[in-house]
Amino acid sequence: MPTYDDQNIFAKILRGEIPNDTVYENDHALAFRDIRPQAPVHVLIIPKGPYVDFAHFAAEASEAEIIGWMRAIAEVCKMEGVEADGFRAISNAGVNGVQEVPHLHVHILGGRPLGRMLQP
Ligand code: AMP
Repeated sequence: MPTYDDQNIFAKILRGEIPNDTVYENDHALAFRDIRPQAPVHVLIIPKGPYVDFAHFAAEASEAEIIGWMRAIAEVCKMEGVEADGFRAISNAGVNGVQEVPHLHVHILGGRPLGRMLQP
């Protein structure tokens, strides 16, 4: 499993060292607006625990953490009003996934048609 770097920017957000535009929070997850939004709705949902990416979290998180993170995603979709018209959930991982921040996050994008999932 990957080694978690606690100096990554989302770890600093969780410790309150840098600000964020919080949308929703529960015991296990924090949701905040992406600083460089790529759609009218662009929210990042992160677990509060030290997980590098989706596979790391899926393998090692507790059931309570998994439920807390998933429910936070559902809550954000409801709060941001993207359920009816649809949205995209993206979790980039590693070099091929072009992951910029090595703390698990899912991007929830919506509010406009998003085009095909991948560029050719
Ligand atoms: P990625 O790791 O490629 O899935 O994307 C990381 C995302 O984090 C990018 O969309 C950035 O715009 C976003 N981001 C980086 N720093 C911050 C920050 N301080 N607050 C909110 N979003 C951020």
